[in-house]
Amino acid sequence: MSFEKEIQKRRTFGIISHPDAGKTTLTEKLLLFGGAIQEAGAVKNNKIKKSATSDFMEIERQRGISVATSVLAFIYKDKKINILDTPGHKDFAEDTFRTLTAVDSVIVVIDVAKGVEEQTEKLVEVCRMRKIPIIVFINKLDREGKDAFDLLDEVEQKLGLSVTPLSFPIGMGYDFKGIYNIYEKNINLFSGDSKKNIEETIAFDDVQNSELENVIGEKAAQTLRDDLELVNGVYPEFSKEKYLSSEQQPVFFGSALNNFGVRELLDCFIEIAPSPRPKKAEEREVIANEKQFSGFVFKIHANMDPKHRDRLAFIKIVSGTFERNKPYLHVRNKKKLKFSSPNAFFAEKKEIVDISYPGDIVGLHDTGHFKIGDTLTEGEELHYKGIPSFSPEHFRYINNADPMKSKPLHKGIDQLMDEGVAQLFTLEMNGRKIIGTVGALQFEVIQYRLEHEYGAKCTYENFPVFKACWVDPSDKNNDEFKEFKRVKQKFLAKDKSGKLVFLADSQFSLQMTQQKYPSVKLHFTSEFE
Ligand code: GDP
Repeated sequence: MSFEKEIQKRRTFGIISHPDAGKTTLTEKLLLFGGAIQEAGAVKNNKIKKSATSDFMEIERQRGISVATSVLAFIYKDKKINILDTPGHKDFAEDTFRTLTAVDSVIVVIDVAKGVEEQTEKLVEVCRMRKIPIIVFINKLDREGKDAFDLLDEVEQKLGLSVTPLSFPIGMGYDFKGIYNIYEKNINLFSGDSKKNIEETIAFDDVQNSELENVIGEKAAQTLRDDLELVNGVYPEFSKEKYLSSEQQPVFFGSALNNFGVRELLDCFIEIAPSPRPKKAEEREVIANEKQFSGFVFKIHANMDPKHRDRLAFIKIVSGTFERNKPYLHVRNKKKLKFSSPNAFFAEKKEIVDISYPGDIVGLHDTGHFKIGDTLTEGEELHYKGIPSFSPEHFRYINNADPMKSKPLHKGIDQLMDEGVAQLFTLEMNGRKIIGTVGALQFEVIQYRLEHEYGAKCTYENFPVFKACWVDPSDKNNDEFKEFKRVKQKFLAKDKSGKLVFLADSQFSLQMTQQKYPSVKLHFTSEFE
């Protein structure tokens, strides 16, 4: 198959949702369609449970599971589909943000009863900012939930999207009769049988046809006609171009658990979702069908075997082909590296591959060369953008608890930060080190892993910070900037790449600082224009 065709057949996407909306269930049903798994229950749930805070072995076990579900690939109707795992738990939100730099589109799952929830809002905001095409799947229609129109309003308002339904429910919960597929113009009747793989649909080009009464009953037929009239009146016609440019988001309804409405979602998805999209590097925009290989690291996973300290770096291929045993330039290190056993992912297995194409993810064994955001090329000095650090939520001093193990401690901290487990800040004033994390859970993970993988011990000390703000250095020579640096000395630190960060101890002090030094620009992420 030609290079061009290989690119066209790839769909690399992420499913995002608030925990419990049905992401794992939907993923599993999608894999069933691809024939990638034979039975339900084969996709492991990577949910990090709350109780894990006090159980290190549980954290380790769950970390292992999340390696297995990092990338799930399958073939459906001649399309190569790569699903990238995005943890829904908020303590791992940063992982998800980074994964979103590697997807070409997303499916957002929303629980029909709960509506738009907190994590969904945050994640969709990131997608919107990056103009990632979004399809919305409203799940659990077999249960009582919110009125479909109210829910569509909520999605528009809370998520800032412009939706247009491509399917519409006929009843809900106890009365759930099925779904009218606006995109395909047919009706799929709900039987509640999750094992049924192929659903029979009844074509209905025109819902005015009196046959409709015979199929769903008089009352439901009238309601459906009214609903569809309203849909027609209120929502714009679906436009693939607008979906691709992130100006419009199609919505599907269904029940993942019952494998209902999932086929419709998938069939539409493979038709409209983008193949690998161009990606901006600092130097230029790179398009998928350029012959020269380039890709970037969006995730690093430590292996389960603590004795080997072996890691798997996940590379998204942006352009060209990635080949086994071919030397590639590690741009940051300016070194050529060869990989004898790159892993590809298929269903929940990984295997060694000779060649991979744009859109694919390869897992490279790494002994500490990579950090998140690194670019690999055939020689060109490209630096891919779009993997910013966000301000952590929790901050603590990290202290060495075993003076004899200072070296392994630093090495351990260094490598864990490269993996993106947390962020390290070094205070300008006294060189003390501060760890910033998204969730409290990470502090325990770090302590546990430092001990078990590096033989080092650490303790923490509270350090009250409200937000880390990256300071735009472009005006660093003006007087106000100098004054800011002098007065706020105690609160200034460098991040791991040497960028200046202001650690505000409260919302109030942040506001005061901004008022007092209006020309000093503070940002909540490390990347800004
Ligand atoms: P995740 O946290 O988003 O991955 O959610 P899961 O896929 O683990 O689903 C959370 C719970 O909702 C599980 O108990 C599922 O069985 C259930 N669930 C998922 N889809 C449906 C559905 O369509 N209908 C009903 N009634 N329950 C569902």
